[in-house]
Amino acid sequence: MAVDQVEVENADVIVLGGGGAGLSAAVSAARCGMRTVLLEKCAELGGTTRWSVGSISAAGTRMQRAAGITDNIADFRIDMMAFVPDHAPRDNPRLRDLLAAEAGHTQEWLEDMGVVFSGPFPEPPNRVPRMHNAVPGSRMYVAKLTQAARRAGTDIRLEADVHELLQADNGRIIGVEYTCQGVRRRLHASRGVILATGDFAGSRSKREAHLHTAAARAIPVNPNNTGDGLELAKRVGAAWHSMDVVLGPQFRFPRSPSPGFIERLPLWTWLARIGAFYFKHAPAWMLKPLVTSLLIANMSPSEKLYKEGAVLVDLDGARLDVGKGANALAMARDAAGYILFNERIASLFSKYPYYISTAPGIAYAYFADYQRGRPDLMHRAPTTAALAAKLNMSVEHLRVSLKDQGEGPRYALGPVNAMLTITEGGLAVDEQHRVLRADGQPIDALYAVGGTGQAGMLLKGHGLHLVWALTSGRLAGELVSQRAPAAAV
Ligand SMILES: Cc1cc2nc3c(=O)[nH]c(=O)nc-3n(C[C@H](O)[C@H](O)[C@H](O)COP(=O)(O)OP(=O)(O)OC[C@H]3O[C@@H](n4cnc5c(N)ncnc54)[C@H](O)[C@@H]3O)c2cc1C
Repeated sequence: MAVDQVEVENADVIVLGGGGAGLSAAVSAARCGMRTVLLEKCAELGGTTRWSVGSISAAGTRMQRAAGITDNIADFRIDMMAFVPDHAPRDNPRLRDLLAAEAGHTQEWLEDMGVVFSGPFPEPPNRVPRMHNAVPGSRMYVAKLTQAARRAGTDIRLEADVHELLQADNGRIIGVEYTCQGVRRRLHASRGVILATGDFAGSRSKREAHLHTAAARAIPVNPNNTGDGLELAKRVGAAWHSMDVVLGPQFRFPRSPSPGFIERLPLWTWLARIGAFYFKHAPAWMLKPLVTSLLIANMSPSEKLYKEGAVLVDLDGARLDVGKGANALAMARDAAGYILFNERIASLFSKYPYYISTAPGIAYAYFADYQRGRPDLMHRAPTTAALAAKLNMSVEHLRVSLKDQGEGPRYALGPVNAMLTITEGGLAVDEQHRVLRADGQPIDALYAVGGTGQAGMLLKGHGLHLVWALTSGRLAGELVSQRAPAAAV
């Protein structure tokens, strides 16, 4: 297509992707006075950030001090690695240092923006409580960051399909070409382009090329994150990093088709403050609506169910080896199955420590919560044959699978899927979030943040992925604003 058929516009900073990392980058850049355009390929903002629990881990925060917790960055750095001791030789120590030092500033930056947190909560092997949870959940990050980005003047464009990064003869990235609402546009960026398109869990071809078989077969929580930023950057010479590293797959229930009570709450800071107070001081029975409401998300069933005798079967009723974790389920038809149990297990899983699932630091959900909150996942039948008929399974398979369960009613919880929460690989970046070539040299004016620019860090432990997304976005937005503008193009 000739250039004169393309609409041409100018900006200072372009951000690709409107999840936690991209929105944070847009807020920072726009607050530095940059003409900032955020391009999001979906019809709404939020990405995987929107579907997360909302925990971020940080050290040295005001909230920790208010709770009388003494903490420091060096200990946080050490404790983070205690989650992944075997990963040390492959880790990215410089980014890890940056994350340890900056996470606390990010938590306070968000708090100052109106995000309300509960906590901090403990999570061993962290030696002190570091988990700060957004109230009422991760939607709050998206809402407050979007509000702040717009207030600072960010131009947010949805359903934008970016085809390529524009590169000048000297190698500098000078913009993008994209299509939005049928119009092809060329958008120039005088300072730089920040890639924040998340991970690649949604790309079957990339999963098959880089991950172990079970992870490749698992169902991605967010099918829209197809690693587009990785592809765009590769075409201008970027190196991919640690593409084979992945945590999971994990057992997760599908999201509920109907929003829960918490999902319907407006995201006002004052209301969230009341919610946080209520959450801290209310007795357990008053928190039941919260618990039930959380069950709409992709919750993970507790492994204790199997330890206490529950059985995992595939969609035909054949028993799967839970010793292999969700890998066995990933290899089954549709990466789906059911958790079967009897009356004894149903009544055992009605109080702590026998919960069916938990949102860490927030709430525990028991058998009755699932009956009430997720009737679509809870199935009961008086006999094995009746359950087989109800779930369209082979009665012979089911009889073999349940031979140790005794007489009485049968329960099935599911479907449960082998899901891929996120992938860990992405672009190679330096501590300034600049995208690197294979020779270690930065590509001028190209940055990557969040899941797109994780560069070897394995972020195991609650709250590290999100805090990396929000921190790297915040810092990259500032750094790109400080650089000299390119000559007009
Ligand atoms: C169920 C679940 C629970 C989780 N809970 C937690 C938690 O409590 N704490 C924690 O630390 N981590 C958690 N995580 C992980 C965490 O949510 C992610 O690591 C984090 O949100 C990644 O942020 P991001 O901005 O990099 O990506 P995303 O939030 O996924 O944003 C990427 C955005 O880029 C857009 N995009 C993709 N391609 C393009 C393109 N070509 N052009 C324009 N836009 C594009 C996507 O649509 C998306 O909006 C959880 C994940 C899941 C799935």
